[in-house]
Amino acid sequence: MANPAIVTVDDDPSVSRAVARDVRRRYGQDYRVVRASSGAEALDALKEIKLRGEQVAVLLADYRMPQMNGIQFLEAAMDLFPLARRVLLTAYADTEAAIDAINLVDVDHYLLKPWHPPEEKLYPVLDSLLDQWQATPASPEADTRVVGHRWSAESFEIRDFLARNMVPYRWYLTEEPEGQRLLKASGASESDIPLVITPDGKTLVRPSEAEVAAHVGLTTTPAAEFYDLAVVGAGPGGLGAAVYGASEGLRTILVERRATGGQAGQSSRIENYLGFPDGVSGAQLTDRARRQAQRFGAELLTAQDVTCLDVKGSARVLTCAGGPQIVAHTVILATGVSYRTLDVPGLAELTGRGVFYGSAATEAPSCSGSDVYIVGGANSAGQAAVYFSRYASRVHLVVRGENLAQSMSAYLIEQIESIPRIQVHTMTEVTAGHGTEHLEGLTLRDRATGQARDVDASWLFVFIGAEPHTSWLDGLVERDTQGFVVTGPDLVVGGKRPKGWRLDRDPYHLETSVSGVFAAGDVRANSVKRVASAVGEGAMAVTLVHRYLEAQ
Ligand SMILES: Cc1cc2nc3c(=O)[nH]c(=O)nc-3n(C[C@H](O)[C@H](O)[C@H](O)COP(=O)(O)OP(=O)(O)OC[C@H]3O[C@@H](n4cnc5c(N)ncnc54)[C@H](O)[C@@H]3O)c2cc1C
Repeated sequence: MANPAIVTVDDDPSVSRAVARDVRRRYGQDYRVVRASSGAEALDALKEIKLRGEQVAVLLADYRMPQMNGIQFLEAAMDLFPLARRVLLTAYADTEAAIDAINLVDVDHYLLKPWHPPEEKLYPVLDSLLDQWQATPASPEADTRVVGHRWSAESFEIRDFLARNMVPYRWYLTEEPEGQRLLKASGASESDIPLVITPDGKTLVRPSEAEVAAHVGLTTTPAAEFYDLAVVGAGPGGLGAAVYGASEGLRTILVERRATGGQAGQSSRIENYLGFPDGVSGAQLTDRARRQAQRFGAELLTAQDVTCLDVKGSARVLTCAGGPQIVAHTVILATGVSYRTLDVPGLAELTGRGVFYGSAATEAPSCSGSDVYIVGGANSAGQAAVYFSRYASRVHLVVRGENLAQSMSAYLIEQIESIPRIQVHTMTEVTAGHGTEHLEGLTLRDRATGQARDVDASWLFVFIGAEPHTSWLDGLVERDTQGFVVTGPDLVVGGKRPKGWRLDRDPYHLETSVSGVFAAGDVRANSVKRVASAVGEGAMAVTLVHRYLEAQ
């Protein structure tokens, strides 16, 4: 396979030549330098590289170009090569461009031209970006291929797992010639899907996520025998705890059962997180947080579902479903919540076959030209409606309440009102799903009149509230009636400390009924269900971990 590419784009021919020359001089041996003189030309080159199945390591784009500026180009390029590192070039310090670059395209570096000597101003930047690119699980050699059926729930799960863990893969339908060829070459048949062919050529038939993880470069077993801090769940709360824990010198491990980012990772655009005036996608925020945690030395285990917590003297022992055990002085539970399922006839069997919980962003391009139904009246449903309106011919937002104002932020309602493709059906509920191989129709009921009607529908995305992941803590950690973990002052009732509490002090603010075990984020009883509060609680829990360790 050809060397990975470094793509440069600048509309000034002499500058363009000079950039390419400097880059080629240092990196020409290991990377192919592709030069373009406009955003459109560079995008064409990127599409060709994509089609050939090759990799792009770094994109360097001039900011001020006619027709398509550097930020617009990088935004479009991200759709093709989300893992390529992004650099914006400007002729002078341009604060507005820098802010846009950070917010819109999560730019990695902002470089001022000219950069003489390149040894001081250009190469150190590119060296570091290339190191980061090489270090991502989706390394340049990664060439995972998935063969599946468009309407197979299992195929969807595998693709979603890879996408959310930022592992690039190529997707082949069984009916495509290449899909057929891969099935044949692997000695598999259509009943063996999803079939995953790993970068080292191994064929996995209907693999578990843990199996896939282990073969695509994700870590699934702990490297050490003992940690200061084990964090369960890698949503914003867990990532926040891992960043602070590791940066403050604690030997920290972060265990995630599916993919980093948690609920936030599924959000197409988080508009209210501090410091991102134009919003940030969940995937970008997650990618940054994960890199930050790993840079500070936190270890990250993926595809490990923690199913048991034990107390053995001063040690806290976590056991994962796949077998590995993690032993640590302290634990932070940041297991968040997950979507409630819509319990109406016909939907359960169509889950993953047109019916999805959460936004399932991987499916968005497949919705092009179709009608999409979204159930829910809160912000998550609103964000999904806005996101899917870019692909679908019409988005139907099905809401049980009389209006959106009861449950959705004003800014989202305004956005929805300004998009003609989104139609809001208030006082409406889904009462049945229809279809055999995949979703074909829905029954909608008007709650005011009681009248039901059937509609054709191939896509349904459900956002109807959430419940905590805490059943595995049953009998050990105190939870409220809905399963949320009770912490701190709420554990002391009528001056009495929780059952089994042996220390001569009350539980710290985020501490659970088991000393040395803390909870942060959505999983905690009475928590604020926000990205910022989850991150904040993750950081605060680490401070309490230090306090706990000092007293040991
Ligand atoms: C679509 C959508 C849009 C949203 N938009 C916004 C927004 O714009 N602004 C905002 O502030 N908030 C938003 N939210 C809410 C916000 O995402 C959550 O409040 C936040 O993610 C909570 O973080 P958390 O770390 O507590 O939990 P989660 O994000 O739920 O993460 C928990 C993680 O723990 C893992 N886990 C669970 N159990 C186990 C186990 N036993 N072993 C290992 N791992 C486990 C899960 O897989 C998950 O990755 C949105 C939520 C959704 C779903």
